[in-house]
Parts: sequence; structure tokens; C-alpha cells
Amino acid sequence: QSPVDVIKQLMRNGIMVSMNQVIDHEVASLVTAAYGIRTRVAEQVAETGALNSSTAGATGNAEEQNGLEARPPVVTILGHVDHGKTSLLDSIRNAHVADREIGGITQHIGAYQVDYEGQKITFLDTPGHEAFTSIRSRGARVTDIAILVVAADDGIMPQTEEAIDHARAAEVPIVVAINKMDLPGADPERVKRQLSQHNLLVEDWGGDIISVPVSARTGEGINELLENLLIVAEISELKANPHRPASGVVIEAKLDRKRGPMATVLVQSGTLSVGDHVVAGTSWGRVKAITNDRGSTIKEVVPGAPAELLGFGALPEAGDVMTVMPNEKTARALAQERERAKASQQSQGRALTLEEVVKQIDAGDIKELNLVLKADVQGSVEAVRQSLERLTEAEARVRILHAGSGNVTESDILLASASDAIIVGFSVGNAIGVERVAERMGVEIRHYGIIYQMIDDIRLALHGMLEPAY
Ligand code: GDP
Repeated sequence: QSPVDVIKQLMRNGIMVSMNQVIDHEVASLVTAAYGIRTRVAEQVAETGALNSSTAGATGNAEEQNGLEARPPVVTILGHVDHGKTSLLDSIRNAHVADREIGGITQHIGAYQVDYEGQKITFLDTPGHEAFTSIRSRGARVTDIAILVVAADDGIMPQTEEAIDHARAAEVPIVVAINKMDLPGADPERVKRQLSQHNLLVEDWGGDIISVPVSARTGEGINELLENLLIVAEISELKANPHRPASGVVIEAKLDRKRGPMATVLVQSGTLSVGDHVVAGTSWGRVKAITNDRGSTIKEVVPGAPAELLGFGALPEAGDVMTVMPNEKTARALAQERERAKASQQSQGRALTLEEVVKQIDAGDIKELNLVLKADVQGSVEAVRQSLERLTEAEARVRILHAGSGNVTESDILLASASDAIIVGFSVGNAIGVERVAERMGVEIRHYGIIYQMIDDIRLALHGMLEPAY
């Protein structure tokens, strides 16, 4: 059994352990019993239970740990339209947000935190892989765990596939919520089989992807879902140092007529306090007031928590990284410096083109050519994907982040932008408005009508030899 399996098993028995923790024989036997292993073997497991006993000593060395403390996981819900992303967010919020008696109105600030058996989990309130990848394309890493919602009566649909690829490209662990279990047509086994076809092997299929049957309507399975999120969070060993000036990411911003720019930030490190000088993107200011997701005024925000800030001079953008600066002068200087950089970048037109990638491969700077592939029909998607993946050369290899049928969409552009990928289209066009977005985000789309031309271009690119196309 892998360490991860052992931790999962312990947690199911209500024992919270971390990767490096030493456990005693009694506890270890709980795990072994679950695996049907006899006592004789139990002693060996007791040793593996210590998992990394050599590093366990490091826990005692507070200085090396640099004040790191466990922080709550940040979770995003992804999935096909109408599979229940919003309902699931509502259901979790209604069941687990305390303090609802105060005013009784939940504040929608772009994220909320629940308390499940003494542990906190933060949910981003804008579901879907577009929002997820759009924040990532601005350079920020926010989400620790993605919940992939699949309706049990409908199974995997095109946007489910997109969501899987977007989560993978971001290297974010996936927990599957098989939703709408209350419906008579619910068929969770079919969903698991379909997941396996996308290389997501759930636990009862011998894999390590956690899947939980739920119903956002009846509330069935919601607690198990939260429990399993905490398990994945524990395995990911999410830590942050609260004892330093804060940094975080803007996840939502809006202009309030009376109060001015309001920005919801997720603090990722340090503690944010009223009075701090902050910069986010090209906006700067001083934190005048902080409101939490329950609408209460607070004085400080710790890592993993979202809060709405008042005090920015201008509206920051979702995905902007927020940093606390020592004083007003440095805050303003950084914002202005970024403004200048942004202006010169725009005039130069920063774009990642295949030629640019070729130069980087040639210089030995990169070893992977990331592609997003679109083709006219599912049959050609598979054929083209296989031909491209066979192209792995000594200099570099092809990595296909997403392959699908149909026109190039905005979601493809976002993914390409977030992962430094080129888009290749075979016998397809662009969805309306896509060219403008591609240009703005500096993403190259190359269309081909003949397969071997595409393959030739990509092969030459991998050798770092493609001639510029004029
Ligand atoms: P989203 O587009 O993924 O955000 O999906 P929604 O949350 O808007 O849900 C789409 C529809 O499915 C709505 O009519 C919901 O009421 C319904 N729905 C969501 N979850 C469940 C569920 O667990 N059971 C049933 N029966 N219906 C659900």
C-alpha cells in the first residue's frame, strides 16, 4: 500500500496523521485490519506507518520549517453545464456555514469558507474551468483541489472532458463528485467506467482517484465529500507562514458606487491587516476595511481565507497577485512600474508563437512543446493526436494538454495561455470572437487542412528548426 492509502485509511478511522508522523502499533493495526493483513505483518506496517521516519525528526526543527503552519485547502468546482456545480456550492454553504443567524444573509464575495469538524475548507464561488484557468493564465496559482462534478444520470460530457484536461494541465488533484444520485436514472457505475476511459481510475477500480456519490438536492454524501477533501488536503501538506506580510490573489473585484473599488482576495501567505499598504497588478492602496464571507467586519485575514477589501485606488483584476508593501511610496512605485511594463509589452505584442518555441527548444531552454488540439470530428482528433504524440524527438517532446472536436473556443485560448501552449486546428475554424481574445492573450492559433503539413511543422519545431512562416 502507498503512504497515501495508509493515510486515507487512518482518516477513515477518525485519526488525523500527517505524512511524517510516527504512529503506534495499535493505530497501525487498524490500518492493517482494513487491508485484511494479519498481525505478523502488522509490525512491518507499523514501520511503514512512520512513512518517512528519517524526516520525522525535522518536524522538531522549527527554524527549518520557517514558521510554516497548516492552512485550509482552496477548492474549485468544475464540470459540465447543468451537472450541479452551483447547486453543490449552495448545498455545502447552507449545510456548513455557521453564524447564519447573524442577519441571516450570506454574503457572496467570490469565495466562502466552511468549517467541517473543526477544519476549514475554502470554496471559490465562481465554478467552471473558464474561471479556473483564467486566473491561472494571469500567473496565479489558487486552487489546491478540483471537485469534478459529473451528473450520475448524464455521465461524462464534452465540458467534463475539458474540465479534466484543465485540472490536469494545472496539476491540481481531482476529487470526483457523482451528483444527482437522487434521480432514478442515476448510474454511478457508468460514470466510473467513463472516468476510467479518461485515465481517471477511481478507488474501486483500483486507482487512487476519490469519488463520492452525492446529491446537491437532498444533501446526501456532502459530508463524505468534505471529509475526502480534507484527506486530499492533508496528503498535499498545504502549509503557509502566517507570521509575515501577506500575499495573495484577487479573485473578484467590483466597483461599489458608494464605497469605491472592492476586491475579494484570497490570502495565500502571511496575515493581512487593516492599514496594510497593498499592490495588486497595477492597483495600489491602503486597506481601510476588511469584510469576511459572512459579512462581518474583521481586522485581519490569515492564509487560506478569503476577504473583501476596501481601499484600492483603482479596480484590480481577478487573477492579479496581491502583495503587502512596507509603505505607500513603495506600493505606488511598484504599481507604476507595472503600468509602464504593461504599456511597453502591449506595444511590442507579446505572443508565444511556434517560432518562439522553436528558438527556445533550439537553445535547450524547453524540452516540451505544449499543444491544444482541435479537429473537425472525434475520429480525426484521435488520429491527429496519435500522430503528434509519436513525434517525440531527442530535442523535445509533444505534450497535448487538451484534444477535442469542434472550433477553437475561448476556453482553448485560456488553457493555452495558462500553460504556454500553441493551438493547432485541423479542418476547423475559430468560434466567434476568438481571434481577438487570442491576440490579446498572445496565443498563436495555427490552422491546417492537411495532416502531414501539421505533422511536418511540429516535427521541425521539435528539432528547433522550423523556418519562420511569412
Ligand atoms: P451548473 O450549471 O453545473 O451550475 O448546474 P446547476 O447547479 O445550475 O444545476 C442544474 C440543474 O440541475 C438545476 O435545475 C438543479 O436544480 C439540478 N440539480 C443540481 N443538483 C441536483 C441533484 O443532486 N439532484 C437533482 N435531482 N437535481 C439537481
